[in-house]
Amino acid sequence: MKPAPFTYHAPGSVREVVDLLAEHGEDARILAGGQSLVPTMNFRLARPDHLVDINGVDELDYIEERDGRLRIGALARHAAFEMPVASGPLATLLPGIARHIAHLPIRTRGTFCGSIAHADPASEWCLAAVTLDADIVARSADGERVLPASGFIDGPLSTGLRADEIVVEVQLPVLSAGLRTGFAEFSRRAGDFALAMACATVALEDGRIAEARLGIGGAAETPTRVTEAEQALLGMAPDAEAAGLAARLASEAITPLEDIHGSAEYRRELAAAMARRALMAAFAS
Ligand SMILES: Cc1cc2nc3c(=O)[nH]c(=O)nc-3n(C[C@H](O)[C@H](O)[C@H](O)COP(=O)(O)OP(=O)(O)OC[C@H]3O[C@@H](n4cnc5c(N)ncnc54)[C@H](O)[C@@H]3O)c2cc1C
Repeated sequence: MKPAPFTYHAPGSVREVVDLLAEHGEDARILAGGQSLVPTMNFRLARPDHLVDINGVDELDYIEERDGRLRIGALARHAAFEMPVASGPLATLLPGIARHIAHLPIRTRGTFCGSIAHADPASEWCLAAVTLDADIVARSADGERVLPASGFIDGPLSTGLRADEIVVEVQLPVLSAGLRTGFAEFSRRAGDFALAMACATVALEDGRIAEARLGIGGAAETPTRVTEAEQALLGMAPDAEAAGLAARLASEAITPLEDIHGSAEYRRELAAAMARRALMAAFAS
């Protein structure tokens, strides 16, 4: 399959990128790792008239920790996260998540920010961004906006990003040293998109859960923080009973997807199983 004809642009700076987006608007698409865009162009599901390739914009190629935030530039590739890139609990959580994303050749090209902009329901980084309260930094020719990840993804493959904006950076809060984290995913084969996954963080005080975050991804149209489950965990001992209760509440809170890969009930069961595993991993970390 070949894409429909398009005009290729290779800007060398963010300024040039946003000027091109301002000029071409809905007719332009950003090309980052190309791991989602190129297949959709080849199938002619996407037919941009202008392709704005950001791979030559060196100022977007960074991952750095500053002022309590892990700042992830638009050219940071998935594979970079397989090694620790942050201090504290993120040092183990992010590599544990990155290894679930597709296969190595895809991970060496695909980008963290591209995943956020693409907003696939089964994106591991979208789940992490929502669970960890990430901020999305979007820039246009008019300036910069900082958008909380929670409201940014508003549907499958749909975000609050405007056509004239680029995600220049995603910021994750650096987690405090005592925080425990866990991630679990189920896919039919290694490297496949997740049918369900869960991400959890837990803080303990005097042996009881004092703070909890639980996000479910892959099982519904968007990654979701399950506040009912988070609230139920507060004050409980970090054990199988707590994980089981939160997992049940989490699976009841989502509206599961139904497709050729599984029924809604199957996905609800999987979501519960992944929530339980992610929480048990967090309790044990
Ligand atoms: C076989 C296969 C398996 C895969 N498995 C997984 C998986 O398990 N989990 C997973 O999460 N992903 C998976 N992917 C997708 C992969 O992770 C992509 O890399 C990711 O979805 C998009 O990142 P990208 O940099 O390749 O973006 P691109 O493909 O270049 O772009 C995707 C979309 O995002 C837009 N975009 C990209 N960057 C920006 C930006 N900085 N600002 C604004 N818009 C932008 C583009 O215009 C386009 O609309 C898989 C892909 C393949 C081919």
